[in-house]
Amino acid sequence: MKILIVEDEEKVGRFVERALTEQAYTVRRVATAAAARDALAEEPFDAVVLDLGLPDGDGLELLREWRAAGFNEPVLILSARDAVADRIRGLNLGADDYLPKPFSVDELLARVRSLLRRHAAAPRATVLTHGA
Ligand code: CA
Repeated sequence: MKILIVEDEEKVGRFVERALTEQAYTVRRVATAAAARDALAEEPFDAVVLDLGLPDGDGLELLREWRAAGFNEPVLILSARDAVADRIRGLNLGADDYLPKPFSVDELLARVRSLLRRHAAAPRATVLTHGA
């Protein structure tokens, strides 16, 4: 299982990467929206852990692009924006789950496992090509 982490806070990103790697997931970590676009265009991922506040863009915009382009794998939003309106917006744009920061790593792992399990019924891998 390969997971893409999109997180610009080095400390949080490293922490999530280590936790997922310890669970035997293959992890690629990027810190910008541009790098996230590249990563998804280059190789398939089974799930994405997505921060919203990125230095060069908004995670919700990435999510909208990916869903519009047919990327169907689970996306878990990890964000300090914990207002109900933000959560609803994320879910409406196609996020599968939303975990507000600060979060418990055990909860993150449980949610990732749950997303992958639910998704396993219809496995597919999507490589996106760069759009406009
Ligand atoms: Ca951030």
